Amino acid sequence: MLLLGAHLSTSGGIATAFERATAINCTAFQIFSKSNRQWKANPLNPAEIEQYHQRQTETGIPLVVCHATYLLNIASSDETIWHKSVGALVVELQRCELLKIPYLVLHPGAHTGSGIEAGIARVITALDTVHDRLPDYHVKIALEIMAGQGSTMGSTFGEIATMINGCRQSERVAVCFDTCHALVAGYEFRTVESYQAMLNEFERTIGLARLKVIHLNDSHKNLGSRVDRHAHIGEGCIGLDPFGYFLNDERFKEIPFLLETPKNDDPADDIRNLEKLRGLIAPS
Ligand code: FE
Ligand code: FE
Ligand code: ZN
Repeated sequence: MLLLGAHLSTSGGIATAFERATAINCTAFQIFSKSNRQWKANPLNPAEIEQYHQRQTETGIPLVVCHATYLLNIASSDETIWHKSVGALVVELQRCELLKIPYLVLHPGAHTGSGIEAGIARVITALDTVHDRLPDYHVKIALEIMAGQGSTMGSTFGEIATMINGCRQSERVAVCFDTCHALVAGYEFRTVESYQAMLNEFERTIGLARLKVIHLNDSHKNLGSRVDRHAHIGEGCIGLDPFGYFLNDERFKEIPFLLETPKNDDPADDIRNLEKLRGLIAPS
């Protein structure tokens, strides 16, 4: 069974995402475990956690991924922002651990002028700090490949690899590949040949064993534009076929494919995008 789903709302409680998932036949999904526009997180209460586990068992959905709040910036050279971000990252990981969520997708952050090297050093210190503070945790941080807007870090495989290899407990760090981000960051993968070449580069720099989450988004902006605008599947610069390369890749049989395409409250857009993706899956 292919792990295929979307980023889903938890409006009405964290466990409600399972109903949204089954309604559109997701076999995996992504959530925010707290508001993505606020620093503050109300602690998860035992009843909420219990209900979440119960729904997961009932629905049989094997894998849920959490995305960290967008506000975090562990690449910051500003002490206040950095400490606030590290503290919030600890809380995010604690919530994942309580919910038995295996991956927390995290944007590496922006250096905001201090430079790439300084930014990477901050990221590494932050990763070491949270790992030291939370020994024996199961949840892993999955650093996301970014579009490279402004001073955003992590838009090259090399940067991601340097961050991971720099930290002391590097086995606790995974990677999330986002198709929209990778394209606008300059990675070509829209032909079978360029797809294989890109994955070869990923293997050489980061290592495919680290790849644990794939975000499937089309892109309004083209190769190398460094502008992050997600489009519906097959309606942007990526087009339909390249999504099939990922979905049918034998190496990704156990990796969740998750949509982060535009939508409003009703699930129509997710249903349509998931249908398009399912149509690309070769019969086994
Ligand atoms: Fe993201
Ligand atoms: Fe993403
Ligand atoms: Zn994006």
